[in-house]
Amino acid sequence: MSPPHPFAAVLYTLTILAACGHETGSAAADSADDRADGPGLTVEYAKWRKQQIVDVDYTLSVSVGKNDESFSGVVVANTTLAKPLTRPLTIDFTGGEVIEVSVDGEETPFGYNGFFISLAPGHLNPGSTEITIRYRQPYSTDGSGLHRFEDPEDGNVYLYTHFEPYKANRFFPHFDQPDLKARYTVDVIAPADWQVITTAHEEKIERAGAGRRHWRFPQTEKISSYIFPLHAGPYVVWENEADGIPLRLMARKTLAPSVKPEDWFAFTRQSFDFFQDYFGIDYAFAKYDQLIVPDFTIGAMENVAAVTFNEDAYVSRGDKTQAERQRLATVIAHEMAHMWFGNLVTMRWWNGLWLKESFATYMGYLALAGNSEFDDVWENFYLGAKRSAYAADELVTTHSIELPVENTAEAFSNFDGITYGKGGSVLKQLPYLLGADIFRQGVSNYLERYAYGNATLRDFMASLGEAADQDLDQWTRDWLYQPGVNTIKASYQCDDDSITSLIIEQTAPAEYPVLRRQRVQLGIYRMQDAVAGPEMTRVATVPVTYRGARTEVEKATGLPCPQILNPNDEDWAYVKVELDPQSVEQLALHINAIESPFTRLMLWQNLFDGVLAAKMPLSEWIGFALNNAAAERDINVIRALSNHLQTANAYLHRVGLPAQERDDALHAIEQFVWRQLDGAAAGSDAQKTWFNAFTEVARTRDAMDYATRLLHGDAKIEGLSIDQDRRWQLIVLLNRHLYGDYEELVASELLHDKSERARNFAISAEAVRPQAEVKREWLDNIAARRDRYKLSQIKAATGALFPPEQLALYRAASARLFGAVPTVSATGDTLHNKAYAMLFPVVCSKPDIGMYTRTLDQNPELMPALERVLKNRRQQSQRCAAMAKLQKNNSAG
Ligand SMILES: [Zn+2]
Repeated sequence: MSPPHPFAAVLYTLTILAACGHETGSAAADSADDRADGPGLTVEYAKWRKQQIVDVDYTLSVSVGKNDESFSGVVVANTTLAKPLTRPLTIDFTGGEVIEVSVDGEETPFGYNGFFISLAPGHLNPGSTEITIRYRQPYSTDGSGLHRFEDPEDGNVYLYTHFEPYKANRFFPHFDQPDLKARYTVDVIAPADWQVITTAHEEKIERAGAGRRHWRFPQTEKISSYIFPLHAGPYVVWENEADGIPLRLMARKTLAPSVKPEDWFAFTRQSFDFFQDYFGIDYAFAKYDQLIVPDFTIGAMENVAAVTFNEDAYVSRGDKTQAERQRLATVIAHEMAHMWFGNLVTMRWWNGLWLKESFATYMGYLALAGNSEFDDVWENFYLGAKRSAYAADELVTTHSIELPVENTAEAFSNFDGITYGKGGSVLKQLPYLLGADIFRQGVSNYLERYAYGNATLRDFMASLGEAADQDLDQWTRDWLYQPGVNTIKASYQCDDDSITSLIIEQTAPAEYPVLRRQRVQLGIYRMQDAVAGPEMTRVATVPVTYRGARTEVEKATGLPCPQILNPNDEDWAYVKVELDPQSVEQLALHINAIESPFTRLMLWQNLFDGVLAAKMPLSEWIGFALNNAAAERDINVIRALSNHLQTANAYLHRVGLPAQERDDALHAIEQFVWRQLDGAAAGSDAQKTWFNAFTEVARTRDAMDYATRLLHGDAKIEGLSIDQDRRWQLIVLLNRHLYGDYEELVASELLHDKSERARNFAISAEAVRPQAEVKREWLDNIAARRDRYKLSQIKAATGALFPPEQLALYRAASARLFGAVPTVSATGDTLHNKAYAMLFPVVCSKPDIGMYTRTLDQNPELMPALERVLKNRRQQSQRCAAMAKLQKNNSAG
């Protein structure tokens, strides 16, 4: 699976993007108590159940319709039980209705508590047993289970499943744990104009009367249930093939005109070429379908041979930038990597979740670097995965990459920048350390050895260690079982313009005092004459493996004395860098003269990290950026700068600058962004990037007037079409500043854009208005009337309710906002808790920070998804207080 937006541009709330050792065994003994009444599944119970069930396959018959609120099904579980049971066997099934249960053809008494079905030991004998369950289940509207979506534009209904980690049992009763892999034989009755899609390609389709058809599918390979799919609806279908594998792409009818199938298929074919060769194992499933679906709560999901993608994240109603196209190519490759790593070989339990996600994250980029049109893949890895990892690893809620997961509720709360970004970065380091081909061989051996089964981290590391002929235990302990990011600093001495000594010093944060071994490349830069004038050129590189507190780099002796020394050149390592004073000075003088865009990108990032760490005053950075950023031509650096400026703009409202100084800085940023928008080459990605920034930082009447004219076609930006999504961006902006006929703009836009996306934009446009009654109304909707809204609508509101300049409104609403925390947590709904958490901003004053502390102190048992965010916001707010202090001292000085 993939998170929704690796490099989110919208910064309303200053949201910072955010063991195989666990084999105790004893708790899994037969003597344990019966399963506790309640949602979810514990690791102990799953282990016990795995010991009872030697084998299981399912035959599943489902009937779905267009206008129903629920669907019906019959599942036959053909199981082999290991031994006589000593306690009831439970079958996971959340929120449905059980009509009948029979065992070996005989109707059998059962218990059902809304979470699982219980069968008493006396009804089950060892050996092969057939359990049949007839059931009904309501469709879901929260993007999990079997989700039902009714298209507001044409009334068509679309269904899709989404199960990870523990929602497959909202679709059918079964043993919902990843190490009970099963074969599935499926048949489905559905409306005649619908497609039905699952892991296998259909065997036959028959008429079933009353305008319905009966779809029959052959038995699948052994797979885990969280990646079993069943999608249905009148999807538009495009077909293609890759290396003999039939490909299909599907989307809703009203979305279809915006889909560019040629891109999807090209990226898919390229990734298949890459992976079949890289893994050395043929794709294991007979066809490959990709569906673009609405209301999706994450980026994409690797259902076996029927992957789902978030339509808001990957389909735009206008031209995509190259970065957006690359993001699509990356997610296609990421999900495809899972077909081998995750689907063919699967973790035993959810503690292994990170490994498949980290692996697919790294592989997604590796595939593009190996076989695609993109030549800036690792810059994008740095901007996305790497940065989210550094950010998450420096928060109080950081955790080791590998950690115990006690139950399925915890499995979900650990999807974060560590799971994807740090794991991916650490895996990216391994080929440098071991050798690229050795790493590849180890991966291939692992997949071969555990195909169609389950495996653990220990199995994976053993396969790599074997291929490398190295003991990787220490590496595993340091990197995977310890949180925290180290910092390195290079210092050197020169004589006669040559290096005489060079040392790498490594430090660790006090909470996690681990020093690690890692391979980096030192880049030595000096000003040289070039055709276009003097250029800060990389004159030498030194690959070196450092370890411990101090590593002498003898290889560097005799090399040219650096003007800038970049200790993590080309970003091989997962480490923070403290530049030496000479490099900082040269960087300030010559940032635009540095030849490598990747190096400029890392150095600009390094500079802005210094602002967030309260090492450089915000206003000083703004001054530096506004003086230097206009000369930048590389799109990735421009993307980073545009983001930094938006974040800086947001912080300006919080760090307590004198009003005049603050307004001058806000004005300077707005004017700068506007100039870049006007000056960018027609049709360029820079133009699109600056347009997005403009809709975030614009605030003056002139800018609002310009936005209005753009909307009405009275002003034009050559090369930039104001497509439907950009129209909404402008409308949200005008509502944010209550400019002109802002209400009327929303109403009239909804008349000709009747899409789902339009409804969400309209909600954002309302929620963002700086009006106390709007805030009250929406807070009530979100906390107390959430049943009236879809999750995507709640998110459209929470993401817009408190933009940074509305601090006073936030303060006025904060008692209500924090007061609802226990109620929201008590819903037990992880997705709702995550959506609610989006409301909480980074604040910078003591009383505001105190609200976080009080709420956390008074509610020690909050849902992890909410608690983590509150803890992170408090910490980010404390950092903001430090920024404010530095800023104050600087202004006074
Ligand atoms: Zn994934």
